[in-house]
Amino acid sequence: MQREFDINTELRELEEDKVFDECGVVGVYAPGKEDIARAVYFGLHSLQHRGQESAGIASNKGGKIQYYKEMGLVQEVFNDGIIGRLQGDISIGHVRYSTSGESHAVNAMPLVVYHKGGSLALAHNGNLVNAELLREEMQDRGVIFQTSIDSEVIAALIARFIRENTIEESIVKTLELVEGAYALVITSGNKLIGVRDPRGIRPLCIGRTKDGYVLSSESCIFPLLRATFVRDVEPGEMVIIEDHELKSKKYSKGVKKAICAFEYVYLARPDSDIDGRSVYMARSQAGRMLAKEHPVEADMVIAVPDSGTVAAIGYAEASGIPYGEGLIKNRYVGRTFIQPDQRMRELSVRLKLNVLKDNIKGKKIIMVDDSIVRGTTSGKIVKMLKEAGAAEVHVRVCSPPVIHPCHFGIDTPDPDKLVAANYSIDEIRKMIGADSLGYLSTEGLLESIGLGGDQVCAACFNGDYPMVLPEGEGKLNGMEKEKEAS
Ligand code: SF4
Repeated sequence: MQREFDINTELRELEEDKVFDECGVVGVYAPGKEDIARAVYFGLHSLQHRGQESAGIASNKGGKIQYYKEMGLVQEVFNDGIIGRLQGDISIGHVRYSTSGESHAVNAMPLVVYHKGGSLALAHNGNLVNAELLREEMQDRGVIFQTSIDSEVIAALIARFIRENTIEESIVKTLELVEGAYALVITSGNKLIGVRDPRGIRPLCIGRTKDGYVLSSESCIFPLLRATFVRDVEPGEMVIIEDHELKSKKYSKGVKKAICAFEYVYLARPDSDIDGRSVYMARSQAGRMLAKEHPVEADMVIAVPDSGTVAAIGYAEASGIPYGEGLIKNRYVGRTFIQPDQRMRELSVRLKLNVLKDNIKGKKIIMVDDSIVRGTTSGKIVKMLKEAGAAEVHVRVCSPPVIHPCHFGIDTPDPDKLVAANYSIDEIRKMIGADSLGYLSTEGLLESIGLGGDQVCAACFNGDYPMVLPEGEGKLNGMEKEKEAS
């Protein structure tokens, strides 16, 4: 039987060349206000770029949690009626792209668990590297899991510890066991809690409103929620918001910071600041560095929209070659099911991008893109530009070649599908049909981010992972054995 042709799946496959979705989290605390799920809804809209598979909101009214989550975009999942039912004055939300667990509604977040003494809701961005080990150990002890996501391991551990501890103590005990990347927002009782992993791999920041506080993966949501940026949650910090106050607890010290370089290259919105660095400025600087490292004579610099745009402008400014529009992105490709058709499959990139023929005809073009992962889309775009009459197409990539997979929440394919892990730069150039190909160096990228190379994870480029990936026995068994021995 022929598979049903879902244009979104087709476009997604095409874009997998550079799609690096992960997840976005938001939490709003506004004591005395009943309708803050609406604020979370708008916040999730602004974080939609971080994940498009599912969306969910959980609202806490006096410790009682109501939630709704479903597959789909934020605007598809929620309507006025659903939002209206999610009454509470603490509310958290999540947009997801599956990096752990299947793409299924059961794995959507927030996760809500009922424990001795109440309930809690949790939203997680990132990926645990020892979740499977912990899950097996917990299953051996009779714990039943309802989902296949690593985040449930965190929720189940907190629920286990909360029998004898406060929620804060339970979270800390849980975090002593888990390894990996996490930015968490949790609500339980009268509290909103935010946690960032000891290396700060995933971002989380704090905003202040006239009614309370906002926690968010990115600061770009604050103007919409009329919040002012306070600061980033520090790596290894837990912030506890209750009784109108924000308290801080450092639960981990002495671990080297390692914010994900791809947040600056591609993931985050350019109007966000992460750890004191504007994403826009980092991307612009990457384009400037790229111009220095890989100059070429040309008539015009164009971007692969949207994530290549800022770097392309930076490249143009540094090189003195004018920036122009060469590719127009169709932002309104809806969720339409149409019949499979070979021609359609081949042309689906054209649904997403169209060439401005008159603007590129006869010109030597520098095409700036954010990254090349599989190499499939780049080749199609170069072909389109050449067919439209470009005299030369020089591809410039404002990140280094991706040669290692990510274990911390970004959906990179297996190494055998990473084009740069399997072919030389000149082979890739030939494969994509470019006249020349230049990638930004890892040093250039780290300099563009400007936080100092030792503060950034660039493992998918250089293989230097910020933690040892665990093998064998998990910490839970280790901990129990230590207990038994003492
Ligand atoms: S391995 Fe790459 S994508 Fe993953 S956290 Fe590090 S820099 Fe980011």
